[in-house]
Formats: sequence, structure tokens, C-alpha cells
Amino acid sequence: DAGLMWFRRDVRSEDNAALYHALKQCRRVWCAFVFDSAILEPLRARGLHADRRVEFIHESLIDLDEQLRALGRSNGVEGVGLIVRHGTAVEEIPRLAAQLGVQAVFANHDDEPYARARDAQVLGALAHAGAVLHTYKDHVIFERREILTGNGRPFTVFTPYKNAWLKALTGYHLKAYPVERYADALAPCPATHPPGVPALEALGFVRTNLRELKVRTGSRGARALFEDFVTRIEHYHQARDFPAVKGPSYLSVHLRFGTISIRSVAAVAHDLHRQGLAGATAWLNELIWRDFYHQILANFPHVGAGKAFKPEYDAIRWERGKHAEALLAAWREGRTGYPLVDAAMHQLNRTGYMHNRLRMVVASFLTKDLGLDWRWGEQYFADHLIDFDLAANNGGWQWAASSGCDAQPYFRIFNPVSQSEKFDPQGKFIRRYLPELATLPTEALHAPWLAKPADLQAAGVVLGRDYPTPIVDHAAARARTLERYAVVKKV
Ligand code: FAD
Repeated sequence: DAGLMWFRRDVRSEDNAALYHALKQCRRVWCAFVFDSAILEPLRARGLHADRRVEFIHESLIDLDEQLRALGRSNGVEGVGLIVRHGTAVEEIPRLAAQLGVQAVFANHDDEPYARARDAQVLGALAHAGAVLHTYKDHVIFERREILTGNGRPFTVFTPYKNAWLKALTGYHLKAYPVERYADALAPCPATHPPGVPALEALGFVRTNLRELKVRTGSRGARALFEDFVTRIEHYHQARDFPAVKGPSYLSVHLRFGTISIRSVAAVAHDLHRQGLAGATAWLNELIWRDFYHQILANFPHVGAGKAFKPEYDAIRWERGKHAEALLAAWREGRTGYPLVDAAMHQLNRTGYMHNRLRMVVASFLTKDLGLDWRWGEQYFADHLIDFDLAANNGGWQWAASSGCDAQPYFRIFNPVSQSEKFDPQGKFIRRYLPELATLPTEALHAPWLAKPADLQAAGVVLGRDYPTPIVDHAAARARTLERYAVVKKV
């Protein structure tokens, strides 16, 4: 009758499926989080000691610890809190379960291949000691094989998936788990296992510019962001494509780490969608894309193992060698000579976030203008996005590379200049991230190499000195891409 709640990508106490079940089923429940060295050590080994995600989790755990203490106190129990361990989860969780004498560990599903393998190992180790691992759906509205085609297969096309998703949805799927109702089962931490979050430095990491960026962490931060977004949601469908505008919700990092419940935000969006608010319908659509890519990863795990969703696309020959590496470095560092692409990469490098329209633009540019393997871009995003999520990131990259399910057809190639003219018409976003071009007149900003010499001179900009000339010619690259992708038709 004693249980251990193991938090992973669900860093909140409110409306948490596994926590609810633990508290309901057990008379005494302890809560734990493991800073998994199997994830952190490879980052450190690659010199990534300053990682915004590690800092985000760290701050959010402090918030979670406070939430648990307050929940305990409101039930008259002092000494409740979060037990934090640093080591491999595969060793730490069974050890903690044995030390605390619990018979059951509770956690929420995580369908990433690494997590599935880890959970299978934890389950085995617990079973060895006579304990069990109970897991629950929490991270998405519908998961795994819950939404299937008439033939009982997973959907691979978004629109019919969305229609089936909306049809299957009932109030039950959006209902919050009333954790508070059973919170009196939260047990005080024993003296051998005091609650509290160790310092970031004790984990071998240092602070990033997260605070400077005013990124709001924890459930408190998520709630504030969502409340702000709800006041703007009616304009979402019109504003979402313009990176200079505060259009989207900026909730991705919170949805990634579960500092906000997907049910709570989907319930609001669904309500407003039913009232006919076009912005809410568009936003709900994005949440459904999120579920869609999660079920793709769960049902087609090869996509998470570096393979194209459509195997014939693995026959494509990408650029390789020194020249390709130089192109990759220019893309990463925002030195391609295409202002919108470069500004987007600066946004990623400086903040860990990139606007959705720009993720599509830079991914298309990497694969279809530079002819580079989408996996190279996927990896760079995985290392730098604060909201990095394997399912969504892989889905996005394979969409752009045309190798994914329901992807952009391969012959549809974004023109980085017209994307810039259309989605940053006044050049506000470009000017924000490329101050060296700030004084150029707007019509020259999207393609400076075509600018009138007088305009460049008046702005004091010398191409090749202050800002690069384009590293590829878009029209020529387009022709090469069509040739490169021709192999797909031959397979
Ligand atoms: P909003 O526009 O407010 O959307 C609300 C939420 O819906 C997001 O927070 C996110 O959880 C979900 N969402 C939105 N668009 C998508 C989508 N296309 N696929 C899946 N979920 C979506 N999103 C990530 O969360 N992590 C990633 O690693 C990631 N990598 C991407 C890589 C590429 C190449 C592309 C094209 C897209 C990627 N996306 C990723 C999807 C999308 O760009 C981000 O979710 C979005 O920009 C986050 O900003 P927001 O929270 O303000 O979004």
C-alpha cells in the first residue's frame, strides 16, 4: 500500500494521471525525479554544459517541489516534497523503491524509443524485487493505437486522422484528474531521503541566458503564458505565420516537459472552437498535429531511429564531404546570405526557440537549397531547441524533406526570398536578429545581393564584409534538388 510517483516529462502536480492513480491506490505515496545521467552525461561529454533544457527542468522541479509541499500542508502533512536523485534512472528508481519499501511505482507514458527501453528495464528490475510499474496516458489526448482507420491501422495522413480524433473526443478525454481529492496520501519524506532540488552546478551544468530571456518556468510560468495566450487566441489563425508578431502561444516547452496539462489547454481550445472562434480551431489543429506525430513515432518507431518514414527516400544521395560541412556550418551559424534564414538561425542560437514558419523555411533550405541530409538539421535542432521533442521534430524535418508521412511533396520547394517577403513583409524580424542589415530599405532586405548599390552604400553595408553573399543560387539549387529527388520515383 505504499507507492512511488516517478515524474519524467510531466513536471506538475495538477491534473497528472499517474500521480492521481498513485494517490488513489496507495495509502502512502512518495514523489521522485531522477536527473538521468544516461541523458545528461552525453550532453556534458559533448561540451554542452550550458543547456537551457536542463535549466528549465531544474527551475520547474523547484516549482514542483513547492507544489507538493503545499499540497501536503493543506492536508495537514509536513515534510512532503520531491526526492531528487542523480544517476541512471534504471538503477535509481528500483533502488529508491527498495529503500522506501514501496510495492508499486507510478509513471506516465513516454513513447520515445530511449524511454521505452528504459521503462522496460525498470519494470524488469522492479519485478525482480516483487514490485510493479504502473504507467498511464498523460502527455497527449489520444495515444498509440487509440485512433485507427476503419481497417484498424494507424493513420498516416493528417486530415482523416484529425476528423477521427474530433469524432472520438468526449468530455472524458479533456477532464482533469482531481489530484487534490486524494492528496492526503502524500507521505512525509523520511530523514534518509530528504526532499529538495540540488543546485544546477551539482549536476555539472551552468546557467544559461534563460532568465535574461524571461522564459517562465514551472506550472506557474505555464499558466501565466496560457492566460496571456487566451486573450490573443482569436487572432491566432491570422497572426501565427508572422515571426515578428506575438502570434503563437510559446507553450511548446511547457507541453514538452508537462508543466501544463494538455487536457487543460485542449479543453479551453475545444470549447472556443465549438463557439466558432476561428483562432481556437486553428490552435486546436496544432494540438492535434502534436498527437498525430506522437502516434506516428509510437507506431512507426523506425522514424526515431534515423530512417525515412517512406523508405524509398533513404535512397537519396545527400551532399557529403568538406564542402557539405562548410555549408552546414554556414546554416548553423546564420551565414547563408539569405536574411530570413540567417535571422531564424540566430533566433534559435540565442534563445533556443524558433518560430514555426521559420522552422519550415530553414528546414526546407537545408534539404532543398543546400542538398544536405535532413538528419543533420534534425540533430542540430535536437541539440538547441528548448522545446525539442523527438516526435514533433522528426515529423517536422521529414515533412520538410518530403520523406515523412503526409509531407510536403518533394517538388514543392520554398523560395527563401518570397517566404521572407510574404511572412516578414516589413523586415521587422530580420532587423531584430541581423542588426547589420537594419538600415537597409525594406525592399532590399529580403535579397540584399539584388539591392541597388546606392541603397547598400547609403546603409553602409558591404556584402562579403558586413553580411555574406548567398552561399547558393536558389534557382540552380532547385534544379539540383529535383534531380536528386528523381531517385525516389525510380525505386
Ligand atoms: P503554437 O503555434 O502556439 O502551437 C501550440 C502547440 O501545438 C505547440 O506548443 C506544440 O506543442 C504543438 N504544435 C504546433 N505545431 C506543431 C507541429 N507542426 N507538430 C507537432 N506539434 C505542434 N515542436 C516541438 O514542440 N518540438 C520540436 O522539437 C519541434 N521541431 C520542429 C521542427 C521542424 C522542422 C518543424 C517544421 C516544426 C517543429 N515543431 C516542433 C513544431 C512547431 O514548430 C512548434 O511546436 C511551435 O513552433 C512551438 O511554438 P508555440 O508553442 O508557440 O506553438
